Amino acid sequence: DLHFAKSLSRLGTESAFVVLARAQALAAEGRDIINLGIGQPDFRTPDHIVEAGIKALRDGHHGYTPANGLPALREAVAADLHARHGTEVNPDNVVVVPGGKPTMFFAVLMFGEPGAEIMYPNPGFPIYESVIRYSGATPVPIRLREENGFAFSADEVLSQITPKTRLMIINSPANPTGGVTPRAEIDKLVAGLADHPQVAILSDEIYSQMLYDGREHVSLLQYPEIRDRLIMLDGWSKTYAMTGWRMGYAVWPDSCVEHVTRLCINDHSCVNAAAQFAGLAALTGPKDAVTDMVAQFDERRKIIVRELNTVPGFRCADAAGAFYAFPNIEGTGLTAKEAQDRFLDEAGVATVAGTSFGAMGEGYLRFSYANSAENIVEACNRIRKLF
Ligand code: PLP
Repeated sequence: DLHFAKSLSRLGTESAFVVLARAQALAAEGRDIINLGIGQPDFRTPDHIVEAGIKALRDGHHGYTPANGLPALREAVAADLHARHGTEVNPDNVVVVPGGKPTMFFAVLMFGEPGAEIMYPNPGFPIYESVIRYSGATPVPIRLREENGFAFSADEVLSQITPKTRLMIINSPANPTGGVTPRAEIDKLVAGLADHPQVAILSDEIYSQMLYDGREHVSLLQYPEIRDRLIMLDGWSKTYAMTGWRMGYAVWPDSCVEHVTRLCINDHSCVNAAAQFAGLAALTGPKDAVTDMVAQFDERRKIIVRELNTVPGFRCADAAGAFYAFPNIEGTGLTAKEAQDRFLDEAGVATVAGTSFGAMGEGYLRFSYANSAENIVEACNRIRKLF
């Protein structure tokens, strides 16, 4: 019998991957499954990016790169952030990692230990709570409410800070709700944080280029007063349809750069060199593929919100960002998990139960609209027929 570490029992998971496996198994049996479960763009990586990755391999970029990423790539990240957010970023503060997730893990490992408190959005990306528990720190949920458009309330967040709070994780635009927190609320949060100088902030901005109806992304990088304790996470997965390349980055405060670089060296040495060249091409090349993808998401978003609101017992708020709709399904009398399982088994529609994103997701179901408009309409028809 193997003797596993106790910490392993505290590690959670991302149920979207479990639903994906089940949907794929049903499809392999010949069932016609519409997958609105997984959070990844249904587009291919744009050709010029793929070509840059292939060229890098042909040119012999087969070895290690600096642990924090190729200098040219970190400079391109800084230039891109300047162009998008109007803020100066020193490339030395940029650390490139394999995807969005490693930044979360490293930030939580850096601040989390028994006795520490770490705040995180709930419902929210499930990996936050998982890695907080794994670190031994106490997870403190920041409740996101439907009546606030799933934006956080700065007053509520600030009132939950204690002397034990070390790190606060926020995410806008948000997974799984599509919620976008308005600038006024972020202004208020940052102003209040002045009274709590010991609290680091991890701002997960992975959906920073997916906002709709003229909404503008507010990056926490735009607040110089918290730069010395801000970790701003972004990456390539969602914006450039590059989930499988494993490319992400964060801008870290000066005091953290050496620690996170050592974590990278201990964990993965560096990101795959060819993927870094592809990432460089994504930042420096044409952006029309991104504009086009976001326009298509916007069209599907309008369709899915409209369709979901016609399902008996469903109430779907306007989804402001990312590519998720998060309807309230309490009126169906089903729990989130029951709805997830029944919709997959009986209607062949894969979705993810709100409870997969934390206890506060009960009564909700996440629909990813990274699928064609026809499939979205068909999925909603099938669900409607169940009632
Ligand atoms: N942050 C949020 C809020 C996400 O929804 C995701 C992916 O679903 C990630 C980070 C991680 O992305 P990656 O696949 O690049 O690790």
